[in-house]
Amino acid sequence: MSRTILRGRVLSFSRAPLGFDDAESYLYLEDGAVGIEDGVVVSVGDFAEADIAGAVIIDHRPNLILPGFIDLHLHYVQSQMMAAYAGSLLEWLNTYTFIEEQKFSQQGHADAVAVDFYDALIRHGTTSAVAYCSSHPRSVDAFFAEAQRRNMLMVGGKVMMDRNAPEGLCDSAQSGYDDSKALIARWHQRGRALYAISPRFAITSSPAQLEAARALVAEHPDCYVQTHLSENDAEITYSMELYPDSPDYTGIYEDYGLLGPRTLLGHCIHLNHRETGVLAETGAVAVFCPTSNLFLGSGLFDRERLLNNGVRIGIATDIGGGTSVSMLRTLDEGYKVLQLRGQRLNPFASFHMATRGNAEALGLEETIGSIAPGRAADLVVLDARATPMMRMRMANVESLADELFLLQTLGDDRAVAEVYVAGARAKSTLGGL
Ligand SMILES: [Zn+2]
Repeated sequence: MSRTILRGRVLSFSRAPLGFDDAESYLYLEDGAVGIEDGVVVSVGDFAEADIAGAVIIDHRPNLILPGFIDLHLHYVQSQMMAAYAGSLLEWLNTYTFIEEQKFSQQGHADAVAVDFYDALIRHGTTSAVAYCSSHPRSVDAFFAEAQRRNMLMVGGKVMMDRNAPEGLCDSAQSGYDDSKALIARWHQRGRALYAISPRFAITSSPAQLEAARALVAEHPDCYVQTHLSENDAEITYSMELYPDSPDYTGIYEDYGLLGPRTLLGHCIHLNHRETGVLAETGAVAVFCPTSNLFLGSGLFDRERLLNNGVRIGIATDIGGGTSVSMLRTLDEGYKVLQLRGQRLNPFASFHMATRGNAEALGLEETIGSIAPGRAADLVVLDARATPMMRMRMANVESLADELFLLQTLGDDRAVAEVYVAGARAKSTLGGL
């Protein structure tokens, strides 16, 4: 197998930055060389010192080469209903989402949406994501089959939901368990696929179903768990009516043994002090979904409070409540949400979160999220001069921090010059751009 060397400006984090420009937290090479063989990074260093004999060299200068973006929470089955005109969460679910997801009972539909969904991810520079499928097992088959075809590391699972939704979308405690179990056997750790046990949220899962989810987690401790937590006031009130014996919303999932270091909790906006403590103790991850939280008027994520209390956090688009597939757009909106909280999100912390930070949230930092020997060659090439406006602004940019901030504030899929998945060009090889 031949060796490829990507030449360009290389940026990769080794840990979360402390302070504004913590040079110890990242590797930056002005003229770098990333050596790739068999889909894996085999060397990283200055181009002048690289062993280029026999290698295919692809020159991306002056663009930046980063690890591919990781999206920690989205619903691929809602790809065709982004930008649905709704008020708050429960109205949005009942009016649009639960209607749309019923279409995934048809195999042809799931297959077609999966293709378009992955094309969109690649165009926007996202090389791994954690996804909710619909309640239909075939939506999971379509999701993982297409990921496998593209050799992408994806995490996902069948939504478990047995009440408070249309009949065509509901499973039962037993069938949700059986289907999830069969899907885990079929897909978990097959190639790059990883399974997430996915009770949608407390409102749509009966106590019997959360009990079944608990059994699945106990039987498959190496699978992820994903659900939604504390997104919206009406959702919290309704959840507490349905689970009156739990101390609070987090307490519901805690009571059913669903919280641990492999648990990803979408939103986590309105948590009380006890709940924050439980997340910190269990190691569960609070996932910040800024475009969705703004779009549905759910509230403002309190990053500082969570971090100060020792809660692990990540960031995600939450398509289709979210309004962009782009992690650049997501970082931008995240910055604005935190501005409204009186908090600053500096560009290094921001790009760390979308790459290495989200890999750490998945416990996959030895595999994805950074550029180092032995890591998968899942990479994104970013062009900070991609549009006339960005080019104008770049004339004034003097530091890497400024360039990153420009990319996240003005950038979108046009700023993604190329994407590599397991060492193979993935964006320029897409058809019909
Ligand atoms: Zn969601």
